Amino acid sequence: MIGSYILEISYILASIFFIVGLKMLSHPESARKGNIIAAVGMVMAIVFTILFHKKDGQSIGNIGFIITALLIGTVIGWGVAKKVKMTAMPQLVSLFNGMGGACAALISIMEFPHIAHGGEYATMFSGEVLNILLGLVIGTVSFSGSMIAYGKLNGNVGDLRIKWLRYVNMGMLLVIIGFIGYIMSLGTIPPGEAMFLVYTLVAISVVYGVLFVMPIGGADMPVVISLLNSFTGVAAATGGFLYQNQAMLTGGILVGSAGTILTVLMCKAMNRSLLNVIVGVFGGGGVAAEQGEGTIKEVSLGDASVLLSYSQKVVIVPGYGLAVAQAQHLCHDLEKLLEEKGVDVKYAIHPVAGRMPGHMNVLLAEADVSYEKLVEMDDINPDLPNTDVVVIIGANDVVNPAAENDPSSPIYGMPIIKAHDARNIIVMKRGMGKGYAAIENMLFFNDKTRMLFGDAKATLQKLVADIKEL
Ligand code: NDP
Repeated sequence: MIGSYILEISYILASIFFIVGLKMLSHPESARKGNIIAAVGMVMAIVFTILFHKKDGQSIGNIGFIITALLIGTVIGWGVAKKVKMTAMPQLVSLFNGMGGACAALISIMEFPHIAHGGEYATMFSGEVLNILLGLVIGTVSFSGSMIAYGKLNGNVGDLRIKWLRYVNMGMLLVIIGFIGYIMSLGTIPPGEAMFLVYTLVAISVVYGVLFVMPIGGADMPVVISLLNSFTGVAAATGGFLYQNQAMLTGGILVGSAGTILTVLMCKAMNRSLLNVIVGVFGGGGVAAEQGEGTIKEVSLGDASVLLSYSQKVVIVPGYGLAVAQAQHLCHDLEKLLEEKGVDVKYAIHPVAGRMPGHMNVLLAEADVSYEKLVEMDDINPDLPNTDVVVIIGANDVVNPAAENDPSSPIYGMPIIKAHDARNIIVMKRGMGKGYAAIENMLFFNDKTRMLFGDAKATLQKLVADIKEL
């Protein structure tokens, strides 16, 4: 009896740890601590469940298997997380996310026979069956969708941009809903038949997860990643309902709701509708990149140093290339140096710059850039016409004017940082390589644009040295 009280209290405490941890994740300075607090909550929930959970008076069995599985998972997870490069973080998030979805789906498959089978016949029409089937579908879609997202982010899976796929996806969504209704309407059926229907539902969900992520490409991957993340949370929450487990329920709801809020914000940032995400439709016609026209103008290091040093207002636009080059510390050096010369320096942060939500915030926080210097896209855009120089460091899609003026572009409609409004534009990148959306960027051919070619770290190093000499 006392054990069950301890268990209940540990779940409440774990839930509090999750909430406090999540709250702290909202600021780069407290995020690391928040992560640890939430992890402690999770460890506590697991340990206390193993120690005190009882069903029909019986303690948890197979402790040896459970601990071995926990150890294997911990070692693999720890090793992968330690080794992963910051730029490969989205792949890792997708992989972990997919594993979470798969766990939720497996729980549903394992528990289905226990819940639905009443003696010789399975009873289908119940809230518990609905809960299990929803967990099964959402978890499976999250798993197969995340695996495709992983492949896409890794560059192993291409886009499948077929217009009619949206109708197939809408149809499949309706089939899944209808199939759940059909299973539940069957009343009582033999257990074997019930399991056959469950496996059929798994198969349809796997296909739907694959098909809804396949067409999504270009600049829209962040939206689908956060949507899949919220799916995993919801699937875990159904497990919490199933086991009447408060910690699992709270954890699932927090991930589900935080993921949903992020998805809605991402949709807003990308100017997309949620329905389009769910049926896998994005962007314009999906025609890749017209050939760039006009001439590319380069700027010498000396000219760039002078232009920056004698400006009043400079805005730095960081992008994925800054993370690849690991040039965030030098970027901060450039900012400090210019500020010492009386230049007002700010950073323009696009919500999907880099390869994960908040990537630029995390990257710049790592280099101790003051949080106050980071200005969100919507707030900085009105300032750009009065900005002397915009320095684009390894960004491409997030400053591509095609999003505003080319309806055939896959990124059409996505809000961008309007670097083209500034008086001068300096672009630091290695060459004429394209961005994630694999399309041409006419900004590089703009009359006001000057290219400073080279690896961002090497270029910044030279630029900082040059400005010091002035
Ligand atoms: P992009 O991917 O559009 O462009 C990055 C640019 O950086 C490239 O054009 C490349 O050009 C340059 N680059 C690469 N390495 C270096 C280097 N070492 N030094 C200097 N430059 C370098 O980046 P953005 O940040 O502008 O846009 C992010 C894109 O990723 C968006 O399309 C977004 O939707 C997508 N995405 C975002 C996710 C998120 O959650 N934030 C997740 C998944 C995708 P070159 O080769 O010539 O050097």
